[in-house]
Amino acid sequence: MTDQPTTSTVHRAEELRRLLADYNYQYYVLDEPTVPDSEYDRLFRELQQLENDYPDLRTADSPTRRVGGAAETSFAPVTHRIPMLSLDNAFSDDELRDFDRRVRDRLVYEQDVEYVCEPKLDGLAVSLHYENGILERAATRGDGQTGEDITENIRTIPSVPLRLRGKSVPERVEVRGEVYMPKAGFERLNKTLSAKGEKTFVNPRNAAAGSLRQKKPSVTAKRPLEMCAYSMALEDEADLPSTHWEGLQRVKNWGFRTNPEMRRVTGVEACLDAYHDLLEKRNDLPYEIDGIVFKVNSMELQETLGFVSRAPRWAIAQKFPAQEELTVVEGVEFQVGRTGAITPVARLKPVFVGGVTVSNATLHNMDEIARLDVRIGDTVFVRRAGDVIPQVVKVLIERRPDTAEVVTLPPDCPVCHSDIVQIDGEAVARCSGGLFCPAQRKEAIRHYASRKALDIEGLGDKWIDILVDRELVSTVADLYLLKKSDLTGLERMGDKSADNLIKAIDSARKPVLWKFLYALGIREVGEATAKAIASHFGTLEAISEASEESLQSVPDVGPIVAGHIRSFFEQPHNNETLEALKNAGVEWQSEDVLPAQEQPLKGETWVLTGSLSTMTRDQAKAHLESLGAKVAGSVSAKTSCVVAGESAGSKLAKAEKLNVPVLDEQEFTDLLSEHGIA
Ligand code: NAD
Repeated sequence: MTDQPTTSTVHRAEELRRLLADYNYQYYVLDEPTVPDSEYDRLFRELQQLENDYPDLRTADSPTRRVGGAAETSFAPVTHRIPMLSLDNAFSDDELRDFDRRVRDRLVYEQDVEYVCEPKLDGLAVSLHYENGILERAATRGDGQTGEDITENIRTIPSVPLRLRGKSVPERVEVRGEVYMPKAGFERLNKTLSAKGEKTFVNPRNAAAGSLRQKKPSVTAKRPLEMCAYSMALEDEADLPSTHWEGLQRVKNWGFRTNPEMRRVTGVEACLDAYHDLLEKRNDLPYEIDGIVFKVNSMELQETLGFVSRAPRWAIAQKFPAQEELTVVEGVEFQVGRTGAITPVARLKPVFVGGVTVSNATLHNMDEIARLDVRIGDTVFVRRAGDVIPQVVKVLIERRPDTAEVVTLPPDCPVCHSDIVQIDGEAVARCSGGLFCPAQRKEAIRHYASRKALDIEGLGDKWIDILVDRELVSTVADLYLLKKSDLTGLERMGDKSADNLIKAIDSARKPVLWKFLYALGIREVGEATAKAIASHFGTLEAISEASEESLQSVPDVGPIVAGHIRSFFEQPHNNETLEALKNAGVEWQSEDVLPAQEQPLKGETWVLTGSLSTMTRDQAKAHLESLGAKVAGSVSAKTSCVVAGESAGSKLAKAEKLNVPVLDEQEFTDLLSEHGIA
């Protein structure tokens, strides 16, 4: 196209140059990209296209002709003897074929060209200078001509040899390679940073760059960085290897790590095979790669091909599909997990990322929402690497519309409308309707029937799925209402199995208190806690009425457990289910209840008044009940005995008036110990 560009085209080119220059600065200098690479690449290509169509639009400082970003002034500058260039990109098989054609045309080469295929590690390029085998200086790429002196930081990376191995070590050599952060290290680092409420890194590349370009080498030393070498250059050109591959072997022999996935192939179709093979392996590799680099193997041919302004003509990077994209948060919904955990999920404008169309991304919990400061209407970076659930990794604050809405935790469960509670010190908010909530149904039944709880033999996951899916059971109380005829109609449920299951459910009607308490599946109430609480309070009633404070008087019960217990018993739906269990004939035995014939206070009615110094009112009540007494709230002629603690008032007076026997605290505790209650 030779027409003159329109004014709007000129403006667009200017805008693209300005945007790309800003993005370069944020990416290379600040290590804080504000747009994903895919967005950068799209704009870059648009500018390239405009400059191709209208060569007059090309400026000397265009980002299409420059490498990287300016070096940071806080590091000493290092001038590269041989410029560190970028790589041209191919985004499709055909673009790779075009590259190969250009190479062969320029070389006037009929045969297939031999290429080295190398995974394009997603990190940052470094140049290492060795003199007589000793690491003397390390530098970043910078703008390709001048990099930053990062020698002290590089020394902290274990895979960088400080001294070259082997006998044939050249006097001066430059080794180039990529410093990167393996996936596992990246996950760990981000978890640690996020636990400390600090800013996390968007991706492993960004984490590697941010870690390597630290002012303090001691910080770099703590970051899980690795280095992989991919080229070398000698000052003494007479000793240069004749192929790139041979150079890689030398580098390896000097003690560098080289990538085991590298291979040599002949012809572009073999390159494409290598590309597709590596793409398939991508998710299984322990580090991130964003494509594959093809390099002409012969050094002589490389020399003939030479360079353009920002990249060699003898190499190209064929990119893999992007793992990060920009999209808009259209809403936030709250999902309830099997265990009641409430997870906020961002509803996204559908976007193609990591090879699939993504329209949801987990936001984990409210702390994460606060940390990201994500609002409805925001433009966000979404990342989907491998099979991992898509994540929102960053918000583009500068694109936030005025209408953006702050996300708040709903007051009640979107599924069962029980209260949502977030106990202090816990990141996760939860639905407190554990026994009732349809989202938690299967899990609640599974736990109730499990071996350590009510041990209902034969009621495994498979049957729970069937019973719930067929709507035969929706809460644990419904189990007791099952009839044999409900079961025999089910596939693979024979007559005998149905009988056995009904029998097993029936035998779980009179659990001891601690097992029953444990079976309720209250968050953080494991077996040991259930035992301690049951023996402290004695009855479920006492437990359900106990305040958080009195719950915390049980050893090992802290504020979090007490909070979970309280919120469980405060939910009307849970209480309805407990009521339904009672109606279905389930009776949980009070703790340490003696067999009826051994209950010394059987048939008696006792009244408690005043405060006791050695136990709570709930405990005293539980002890009396365990000896067979009924505990009433008021004194009458029928009252068998009154226990009068400190500051007893009208009830004591009435007992004296009616000649009802009265025990003081000492007499009461003596009576308890007579019956083995300490
Ligand atoms: P590049 O990443 O496309 O390719 C050159 C780089 O590849 C080298 O410097 C080296 O670090 C790396 N590399 C990995 N393995 C290699 C191997 N085996 N051999 C040779 N090099 C290897 O080019 P670039 O100039 O570093 O960066 C441009 C890219 O960076 C863009 O395409 C874009 O994706 C990204 N970028 C993003 C932003 C943003 O704001 N998100 C800004 C600037 C650049």
